[in-house]
Amino acid sequence: MATVEFSNVSKIYPGGVRAVNNISLAIHDREFVVLVGPSGCGKTTTLRMVAGLEEISEGTLAIDGRVINHVAPKDRDIAMVFQNYALYPHMTVYKNMAFSLQLRRRELKLTRRQIDERVRQAAGILGLSDYLNRKPKALSGGQRQRVAVGRAIVRNPKAFLFDEPLSNLDAKLRVETRAEIKKLHLRLNTTTIYVTHDQEEAMTLGDRVVVMKDGVVQQCARPLEVYERPVNQFVAGFVGTPPMNFFTGKIIDGKYFVFGNQRMALPPRLLQSLQGRSNGPIILGARPEALSLVPEGRFAGQENSISGTASVIEPLGDRMDVYFSSDEHSHLICRTDATHAMEIAPLSPLRVYLALDKCHLFDADSAGRNISLAVKG
Ligand code: ATP
Repeated sequence: MATVEFSNVSKIYPGGVRAVNNISLAIHDREFVVLVGPSGCGKTTTLRMVAGLEEISEGTLAIDGRVINHVAPKDRDIAMVFQNYALYPHMTVYKNMAFSLQLRRRELKLTRRQIDERVRQAAGILGLSDYLNRKPKALSGGQRQRVAVGRAIVRNPKAFLFDEPLSNLDAKLRVETRAEIKKLHLRLNTTTIYVTHDQEEAMTLGDRVVVMKDGVVQQCARPLEVYERPVNQFVAGFVGTPPMNFFTGKIIDGKYFVFGNQRMALPPRLLQSLQGRSNGPIILGARPEALSLVPEGRFAGQENSISGTASVIEPLGDRMDVYFSSDEHSHLICRTDATHAMEIAPLSPLRVYLALDKCHLFDADSAGRNISLAVKG
């Protein structure tokens, strides 16, 4: 069990690439933290610095309060599971799991029997007991992945590091293995740092989610907090599928948000967040579920709504995602219940109403700060 603390940590690669920029982050004992962000945002580099596979250019990294910047990887008491599993192909599952312990048996003060017990216990936890004599090539992708996790478990490390461990699995297995990893964490309670580019994986696994962009932490919070209270437009757009809709407009008469020929009467919470601002462009963000759809002929007035044309309908059983375009936007998404499924088809005219009390307002600059967070509610 361990705490992991980043204090102003940066990684600058030769040539000046600042892959990780001034990260400060305290990971608690037993916590499961997920680093998530688009390709190249620096999440793998961050993880590799914890493992000791990359040098830290600036700042300090501490495990259990001890600075480990210059501690060799093998002495950090951390186990990493890689995307490609990195199993030894010529060794059996048993040997793959036992190998690192056998190699350091004396140093770790372990008897052969203790190693055997650890391997068999880990195999039991992971459902690998019947496969101990097989070689990796005779295993499925999911089983190989479990061997890689088993190899980490037997070391009984202070912390687990996972680098995109599910990306080689098919969609169904990915969801199943995701649940296995979550169960494993509930059972072992080992501090875990997990890297993924998949925001859904991040949201379902993490006690906390760290959203990164360009080497910088954008937001670190519980999954629902990140979803409901994104600190900026990047986080709002990255977290959530389908993604949030954004409308650029301006405020008129002190209470209407206007874009194109659409007019929205902002609720008090959003109006309050605008107090003291000069009247420049502003971005309204609406999650697909904050849009409700009404087919033609049932329109109930125009205020707080957008007229458009359906393009793609995705039925999801009890609900459906409707992709549509309006005069100003070619790509909007509404997630709605399936009540109107029979009445909406591609090219159908439609109108969507915005639940403005569920919307956000963002600065229309590159930082895209969520200004509506300043007001409670
Ligand atoms: P991905 O999801 O694609 O693996 P990532 O978020 O894990 O991306 P990193 O692999 O940490 O991102 O890379 C962060 C940045 O550092 C990228 O711009 C990458 O090109 C750069 N980078 C990574 N390794 C090196 C290296 N050895 N030398 C120079 N630049 C590097």
